Amino acid sequence: MARSFVGEARKRVGPKRERILPIIERLRAEHTDAGIALRFRTDVELLVSVMLSAQTTDVNVNRVTEHLFEKYRRPEDYLAVPKEELEQDIYATGFFRQKAKAIRGTMAMLIEEYDGRVPRRIEELVCLPGVARKTANVVAAELGEPQGVVVDTHVRRLSQRLGLTRHDDPVKIERDLQRLVPREHWGIFPHLLIWHGRRVCIARAPRCLDCVLLDLCPSSRV
Ligand code: SF4
Repeated sequence: MARSFVGEARKRVGPKRERILPIIERLRAEHTDAGIALRFRTDVELLVSVMLSAQTTDVNVNRVTEHLFEKYRRPEDYLAVPKEELEQDIYATGFFRQKAKAIRGTMAMLIEEYDGRVPRRIEELVCLPGVARKTANVVAAELGEPQGVVVDTHVRRLSQRLGLTRHDDPVKIERDLQRLVPREHWGIFPHLLIWHGRRVCIARAPRCLDCVLLDLCPSSRV
C-alpha cells in the first residue's frame, strides 16, 4: 500500500533528471540570501570557522570567532600560545579540546607544507588534521572551487524527500547528487537545500502548503 503510494507520487512528479533544474531555479528565486552563514575575512579564517562549526550552530561560532580572529590572525598565532589558552578561547563552541588539537595540527601543516596558505584541492584538504570530507567540501566551495556536494542533515533530508536519492549514507547521497546536479551548481545547491530545510521543509513539520516545490516533490503532504 505504502509502496504503491510512493510509486504513484514519483510518477506524478516525473523523473528527477527533469525536475532538478526547476528545483534549483525555484529555490534560487525563493532564497536569494542563501549562502554560508559563517563570518570570515580570509581563507584561514574560513577554514578555522568551518572546523569550529562541527556539532554547534553557525551563530555560536560567529560569536566566538568575532574575538578569536582579532587575536589569531596568522597560522603561526595558533601555535604561539599554550594549547590550554586556545582551548579556553574556543571553549564555547564545544568539543574544545578536540577542536584545538585539530586546529593546531592543521595550522602546523599549513605552515610546513603550504607556506601558510589553505590548499584548494579536496584531496589535500582532507589530509589536514581533523578536516573531514564535509569540512573540505564546504571550504573548497567557498573558495570558489567546489569539487563535491556538501551533505549535512538538511541536505540529506531534503534530497530524500525530493526523491533525489534513495540512500541514507552521506557518501552515497553525495555521489547521487554529483551525478544529478550540474557541476556549476555544486557550490550553491547545498545552501539552497539547507535554507529551504530551515525555513520551509522543516524536519518534523514540513510546510508543504507554503513550498515552491509542491508540484515537484513526491513527499508533499497536500
Ligand atoms: S513539498 Fe513538503 S516535503 Fe516536499 S520539499 Fe516542500 S515542504 Fe518539503
